[in-house]
Amino acid sequence: MNLPSPYQRHRTVAVRIGPVTVGGDSPVVVQSMTNTDTADIQATVTQVAQLAQAGSELVRITVNTEEAAAAVPHIREQLDRQGCAVPLVGDFHFNGHKLLAKHPACAVALAKYRINPGNVGRGRKRDEQFASMIETACRHDKPVRIGVNWGSLDQELVVRLMDENARAPQPRDARAITHEAMVRSALESAARAEELGLGKDRIILSVKMSGVQDLIAVYRELAGRSDHALHLGLTEAGMGSKGIVASTAALAVLLQEGIGDTIRISLTPEPGGSRSREVQVAQEILQSMGLRSFTPAVVACPGCGRTSSDYFQHLAQDIQGYLREQMPAWHERYPGVENMTVAVMGCVVNGPGESKHANIGISLPGTGERPVAPVYVDGEKTVTLKGERIAEEFQALVTEYVHRTYGKVDEEAAG
Ligand code: SF4
Repeated sequence: MNLPSPYQRHRTVAVRIGPVTVGGDSPVVVQSMTNTDTADIQATVTQVAQLAQAGSELVRITVNTEEAAAAVPHIREQLDRQGCAVPLVGDFHFNGHKLLAKHPACAVALAKYRINPGNVGRGRKRDEQFASMIETACRHDKPVRIGVNWGSLDQELVVRLMDENARAPQPRDARAITHEAMVRSALESAARAEELGLGKDRIILSVKMSGVQDLIAVYRELAGRSDHALHLGLTEAGMGSKGIVASTAALAVLLQEGIGDTIRISLTPEPGGSRSREVQVAQEILQSMGLRSFTPAVVACPGCGRTSSDYFQHLAQDIQGYLREQMPAWHERYPGVENMTVAVMGCVVNGPGESKHANIGISLPGTGERPVAPVYVDGEKTVTLKGERIAEEFQALVTEYVHRTYGKVDEEAAG
C-alpha cells in the first residue's frame, strides 16, 4: 500500500516471535492481552482464540502463579489442536525467575517473555533474578520484551538519577528525571541482557506511561537512543471513548514519526463488553493512518437535518458489522478485499460524490428527495434501489462485488 510521504519508519532490528516478525521492515504488529485467570485453561483458551480471530497477531497472558505456569503448556496445546497458532507471550512480575525455572514446559510453550525491570527484585537479587530469566530465554531461544512501566519504575534507579540531578549545575525538573529513568531502565536492562548473551534481535523495548505527552516524549527519546524494536502502548488508557481517544492521540503522533513496531491498546472493557475491542481499535488506528489494511472501510456521512430517518445509520452499522464478520473467511478467499471502501451516505448532497470515490456506494434518500437510492460501482451509477428491501439488496450487491472483484484469482485458478 502507498504510505503517506512524510512517513518514514525508524530503523529497528527485526525480532522473530514464532511466525510473526516485529521490527525491521515488517508491518506494525497488533497485539492484545487476556483478562482471564490463566490457571483457568478453558476460559483462557476461549479468550485467546477470540482475540486471535479478531486479528490479534500476538496474545499476552499473565503468568503470575504456579497454577498459571502449569496451565500454559495445556493452553498452547489446546489452541494448536483447534488450529489457532497465535504466539503466546508470558507476562512475568516478581516471581518470573522462579516460575520459568520450575516450569520448563511453560518456558517452551511461550513464544516470548515480558519482563518488567521494576518488578524483578531489589538490590543484588534484582540482578540475579533478571539474569536467571534472560538465561532461560537464551536457553530456549525466546525473545524478551523489556517492558518498563511508570507505575512500577525501578525506584533505585529513580533515586540514583535524582541524586545525580541534584548535583548537576542546572538541575532538571522531576518530570524530566522520570522520563530519563524510564528510558535508562529500558536501555540499561537491554544492555545487561545483551551482556548475558541475548541478541539484539531477541529484545523488544517498551516504556509505557499513562499521560499522552509523557508517552510521546519518552518514546521519542528512546527511539533516538536505540535501534531496538519498540512495543508501543499507552498504559492504563481507560474506558470507552476516553481510552480510545487517548491511545489514538498518543500512538498516532509516534507512528507518524515512524516510531513503533507493535502496538497494544490498553482499554478497560465496559462491563460485559468484549475484550476484542482493543484489537479492533488497534487495527482501526493503523488502517485509518494508511499503515495497514485489515477490513474494508465503510465511509458514512454524519447525517444532518436532511437525513429523513436513522435508516442510513442502521445501514452503515449493519454493513460494517457484515464486512467484519465476513473477513476471517474473505481474508483467504478474496485477497485484497481489506482495501475495499464502501460508502453509505444520508442524501444526494455528498452521496454520489463520495460513492464515486468508493469501490461501491449508496446514497439514501434525504428529506424531500425521491424515495430512491442510487448505487455507484467503481465510479459508475449502476442501479437505483427503492422500496422496503434497500438494505438487503445493497448487502447482496456488496457481496457480489467482492466475489467479482477479488475472487478473480480463485476463478482463474479454477479455469
Ligand atoms: S450527505 Fe446529506 S445527509 Fe449526509 S451530512 Fe451531507 S447533507 Fe447531511
